[in-house]
Amino acid sequence: MSDEGGGVELILLREDAVVERPDTLRCPSCGTGVSYNDGICSACGQVFCPGCGHALESDEDESCPACGLALSFECPACGFPVAAGARLCPECSLLFVRRCPACQARILDGPPACPECGAEFVLEQRASATIFAAAPGLVLLVGGSSVEYWWPAVILGLAVWSYCKRPTWTAAVIALLALASLWFINRNLWALASVPLLLVASRLDLPMPRLRWAFYAYYPLHLAALWLIRIPMSKAGYLFF
Ligand SMILES: [Zn+2]
Ligand SMILES: [Zn+2]
Ligand SMILES: [Zn+2]
Ligand SMILES: [Zn+2]
Repeated sequence: MSDEGGGVELILLREDAVVERPDTLRCPSCGTGVSYNDGICSACGQVFCPGCGHALESDEDESCPACGLALSFECPACGFPVAAGARLCPECSLLFVRRCPACQARILDGPPACPECGAEFVLEQRASATIFAAAPGLVLLVGGSSVEYWWPAVILGLAVWSYCKRPTWTAAVIALLALASLWFINRNLWALASVPLLLVASRLDLPMPRLRWAFYAYYPLHLAALWLIRIPMSKAGYLFF
């Protein structure tokens, strides 16, 4: 029992610390201590204005109805739309100044100088950005040699990931070419049949519950189904390798 009492005391202390720090607030929805810059409560998912902490209806609002802050800005280095308050650009890893080193004003976008005192900012790329830039090549080379369907599978994965992040024709064409290049493994172009399927599926509104563990039942089941289908097919003279 005494242990439990100690735990409660610790939590109270932490909440007090949250109130004292100027960069944090209590989530307008659930009261958890959150950082202004995050713009979203990690406990309940409530989105709020990173400038004034006002609760927002959805994360698609363009500006805060309470203080008028623009809720996204263009990265000055690469033009990617970045959420106001974000500490770095998710596209090019440019680090943003979040507090003016000269006057301590809070900064929420990526200006070249402090709007309060005019001090110029030098924005730097996160040091690991260069490592990340080299990573895709390494993933492709090593990963491609050791996964099912080899390099086309990895290229497809990277192209689809890139397209989801920012839809471009380049990513779409590379994804299509990766699918088509499965011809070298499959000796047919059936992989391309997934494209019309995807196009149709994205236009249908199928409410699907998120079942975390369903995959682990589905995967062995579908392998078993394929194995069973092969028995009559090989009896009919089809060859499997
Ligand atoms: Zn919350
Ligand atoms: Zn606001
Ligand atoms: Zn950027
Ligand atoms: Zn300043």
